[in-house]
Amino acid sequence: MPILFDNSYARLPARFYALQPPEPAPAPALLRLNEGLAERLGLDTAALRTPEGVAMLAGGALPASAQPLSMAYAGHQFGNWVPQLGDGRAVLLGEVVAPDGKRFDLHLKGAGRTPFSRGGDGKAALGPVLREYIVSEAMAALGVPTTRALAASLTGEIIRRETPEPGAVLARVAASHIRVGTFQYFYARKDTEALEALMDHVIQRHYPGASEAEVPALALLGAVAGRQADLIAHWMQIGFIHGVMNTDNMTISGETIDYGPCAFMDTYNPAQVFSSIDHQGRYAFANQPAIAHWNLAQLAQSLLPLLPGDPEKAASQAQGVLDGFAPAFASAYGARFAAKIGLGQSSAQSRTMIETLLDLMAKDKVDFTVAFSTLTRGAQSGDLSAFQGLFTSHLAAQAWVEIWQDALGPGGMEKAAEIMRRANPRIIPRNHRVEQAIKAAYDHDLQPFETLIEAVKSPFQEQPEFTAYEAPPQPHEVIAATFCGT
Ligand code: AMP
Ligand code: MG
Repeated sequence: MPILFDNSYARLPARFYALQPPEPAPAPALLRLNEGLAERLGLDTAALRTPEGVAMLAGGALPASAQPLSMAYAGHQFGNWVPQLGDGRAVLLGEVVAPDGKRFDLHLKGAGRTPFSRGGDGKAALGPVLREYIVSEAMAALGVPTTRALAASLTGEIIRRETPEPGAVLARVAASHIRVGTFQYFYARKDTEALEALMDHVIQRHYPGASEAEVPALALLGAVAGRQADLIAHWMQIGFIHGVMNTDNMTISGETIDYGPCAFMDTYNPAQVFSSIDHQGRYAFANQPAIAHWNLAQLAQSLLPLLPGDPEKAASQAQGVLDGFAPAFASAYGARFAAKIGLGQSSAQSRTMIETLLDLMAKDKVDFTVAFSTLTRGAQSGDLSAFQGLFTSHLAAQAWVEIWQDALGPGGMEKAAEIMRRANPRIIPRNHRVEQAIKAAYDHDLQPFETLIEAVKSPFQEQPEFTAYEAPPQPHEVIAATFCGT
């Protein structure tokens, strides 16, 4: 498979990673190749479908330019410090420079043990691989910065989980796989030289403007905080719950990463949690901005050794940058939710309207996506009865609609509908659909997986053939918790 990798991460000092070839799959079988993404990267899709290409996507037949390695990182998991995590079941094959000059990591998840595997087998089961494929591609279609899925393959192995399961590999593409936990790893080891090399690497790769700042480390922190503020607001705009926002699952690039127990919310509930192990609600829907802030505080701390001058002054400068997160998030959230109700700008009035509406949705247990897409259709047609019909508190819903119509002003509905159409998806990868697709795949039927991927590709468009995918789950279809994807 002729891929010409250029491996900037492998040029960092040896203690950043363990050189580590993936374990070739014994009988690789390609389940799905993301041709659009392959083309975007400048890869030869026909070559990826040859036996050699299929082997590579599952860990074998590596091109000579690959420099496979597993990355070292640490992290806080559910708030608990773990000094060494690292890629325990993932290998970075190398970096691809796309025709437009953008650099991407090509990484295999589930390709065997590495020096960071601890007790794990380094493998991934079919279900989590398909979930990550579906959800990350849906996120990309929704316009959310995210890692992407290039391919899903079966390895031909049966792996041991609670029950025996088919082993699978996800070929994942990312701007980079550098995490908050990568900085924490070197900070905890008091390895300032490595921190500096890491900072220079990420500035060059993701935030070139920061190199010209008076204090690059502060500029980097501010830039990462800004991207994360918008990312979390974007998640919330579409009802997404990451589920495991540990510091090792937060990228420096600002892309969503590591889709484990993630899910889109059906019924609006700000306290919704999906991870079966998140008993405290640490990673609940409405807690995501606070957790992002907490994670960024860990990044700020890890950058302290790179700040010049008196440590106390440095700490207060870093704190100052960190304090910018809350207003940046509030502004991103305000704008994104204002757009959901058709307003071009956030204001005190739009914020009150959004809060009132969300409170009403929570009280009446209304589906998040359906509420906003029905309101969008109401704005398009001028008939708001279907929207009002979603609520059991009829008078309150009617009162809200009247205030909203007043705010839009005469003739404002058409303009609002245009804004709303782009802010309110009709189709999200609902959890029960994801589970159905996975279940069918275990029965050797990939059609529901393929159809779901087609359905989530154009989330904002009216697609008559996919209206069934707009519907919330029936009561018996509701999935309350998803399990960590190991
Ligand atoms: P995650 O839940 O994917 O964010 O993973 C957390 C940590 O556990 C990372 O260091 C992973 O590499 C490691 N890990 C997860 N699953 C496995 C596995 N099956 N084998 C080895 N390490 C794993
Ligand atoms: Mg992870």
